[in-house]
Amino acid sequence: MPEIRILSDQVANQIAAGEVVERPVAVLKELVENSIDAEAKKIEIEFRNGGKSYLRVEDDGVGMTSDQALLALERHATSKIRKASDLNKIGTFGFRGEALPSIASVSRFILRTRFKSSQEGTELFVNGGKMVHCKECGMPHGTRVEVSHLFNSVPGRRKFLKTEVTEATHLIHMAKLYALAHPSITFTLIEGGRTIFRSPACKASDERVREIFGRGFADSLAPLNAKGNDLKINGLIGRPGQSRSTRKEMIFFVNRRPVDSKTLSYAVIEAFYTFIPKGRFPPVILFLDIDPAAVDVNVHPSKREIRFRNEPQVRTFVLENVLNHNKLAASSKYNLSPLETKVEYEKEKRGFVPRIDPQALEIFGSKKDVDLESLVEKKALSDKLENKNSDLDSHEPAKLIFDQLPHQSIIDHKLVGEKNDPGADWKFLDRLHGDLVLFSTPDGVVALHASSAYERVRFEQLEDNLRNSEQSISQTMLLPEPLEFDGIDSSNLEASLLKLRQLGFVLEEFGRNFYRLEGCPLWLAPGEAASYLRDFLEIARESGGNLQIESFARQALEKQVNYKQENRDEFSERQIIDLVDQLLRCRNPYVCPRGKPVYFEIPIRDFETRFKRKL
Ligand code: ADP
Ligand code: MG
Repeated sequence: MPEIRILSDQVANQIAAGEVVERPVAVLKELVENSIDAEAKKIEIEFRNGGKSYLRVEDDGVGMTSDQALLALERHATSKIRKASDLNKIGTFGFRGEALPSIASVSRFILRTRFKSSQEGTELFVNGGKMVHCKECGMPHGTRVEVSHLFNSVPGRRKFLKTEVTEATHLIHMAKLYALAHPSITFTLIEGGRTIFRSPACKASDERVREIFGRGFADSLAPLNAKGNDLKINGLIGRPGQSRSTRKEMIFFVNRRPVDSKTLSYAVIEAFYTFIPKGRFPPVILFLDIDPAAVDVNVHPSKREIRFRNEPQVRTFVLENVLNHNKLAASSKYNLSPLETKVEYEKEKRGFVPRIDPQALEIFGSKKDVDLESLVEKKALSDKLENKNSDLDSHEPAKLIFDQLPHQSIIDHKLVGEKNDPGADWKFLDRLHGDLVLFSTPDGVVALHASSAYERVRFEQLEDNLRNSEQSISQTMLLPEPLEFDGIDSSNLEASLLKLRQLGFVLEEFGRNFYRLEGCPLWLAPGEAASYLRDFLEIARESGGNLQIESFARQALEKQVNYKQENRDEFSERQIIDLVDQLLRCRNPYVCPRGKPVYFEIPIRDFETRFKRKL
């Protein structure tokens, strides 16, 4: 067996380069991060041929003395941490002291730098890891790194690079991410002499979005700001109905570092659940600020993957705040009192008619200006007057009772007078086939899926019912059911007890870990109530006790609201017209609770395009 030897620094650097700088975009990222760490106010990036032949990053930061510069090229030389415990609170981008030596080991590398108070600058030239020269040079203070012929000395690695176009796309995207996260730094990006963007320092990230991602993208987003105990998020998230077919436009930063985080993306996707069609993704740009000690960035050398020390806390925080934002955005654009609403509503009546692009389903741009609270109030009032619940037989099976729910009679019961009928602009044309119904509208033709519409309306009624604790009605169980739980389940149950009671569960504690289930919400079959609770506790246990009872209840509701399961007869023409009226008052009329589209509009201009003339 050959004898064991310690690798030379040059070989060690080349191996590290395989991890740290496997592609040009990684070089760009390391250099830009160094510039930001050096407190640059201006960063200029230039590349050629997808960064394979040339990449330059130049800043006006603190710079280095010639001793520092020489040291910076040594392996594990860093000015950013000193002891292992510093790893627990990393506030800078770099800390490994690996980037510069790694890059220099696999390229032609020229570093020019001048420390703030030095008279002269220093130029270091390293070729494939070998120092060629170190000399004085004149330059303004700051640092400029030029990397050319990347991986020429390691042909094996060069083979793995993608086409120039692909590498360039990555470079541009990465430069945009850093520019986005650091609005106070002036960023310039140049590709082969052509300026791709030049963005002067600005106050906030939203200004940057407009400049570097374009107006269209910026306009599809709305600002979001939320603060928790030791967490903060801000950023921009898709307006109601904005969705994409890929995750590409879900962009996350943690402490201004662009990251890939399943925790964050799943939390956001869940918060958009039922707000956009299933299988599609919301556009979001979110910045999470968190105590550096609560994040582990030391997972992978490229630092793109991070881990939160308390994943459930972060998840819940993001989920709740994005969800609240969505609810607000979907329900009302203006915060009007009921009186004002009416006037506004009449004035803005046209606002009710949604416009949907049939192909893309990149849809739902319509402004829904109705004040839902006033509608719900009226609804409650009219229900009270009719006193629909007074003769409820509490022992009847759930299905039957379900049909007597105050908000249930959606089809035959009008909430608001004909005058303000939001569906008035929709003229019923025909029911073509099964669930397919056609309407003409001032702007085109609407195709509606009747069962989906019914399910959406029913879903929101149940949701209202659920949300409004005073309105949730219980049915008494014929035979109270004794339940015994283990310690974890029982403490999870206790944590949600108040909410469960608000939902309509009647649960009495009798002894440690023993409960008696005496009643359940109307929308649940009494026979299923206990297993519903067990499901809830199981999922609560899986999510570390962090389950939102609301989201669980929603899932249960979805199962309830299935038009086909309810064995209804076909809708009559009149019922369909009334249904539309109800639908257009929904918070989110566009998708059914399962995330499928409810209706779309084919605009007149589409017909004109096909006929190749004005209609
Ligand atoms: P790290 O960033 O992990 O410390 P690097 O290899 O990227 O390691 O850089 C090594 C050191 O060189 C840094 O700690 C810093 O002191 C110095 N340095 C690198 N780039 C710059 C720059 N653009 N301006 C000033 N100092 C820099
Ligand atoms: Mg670095």
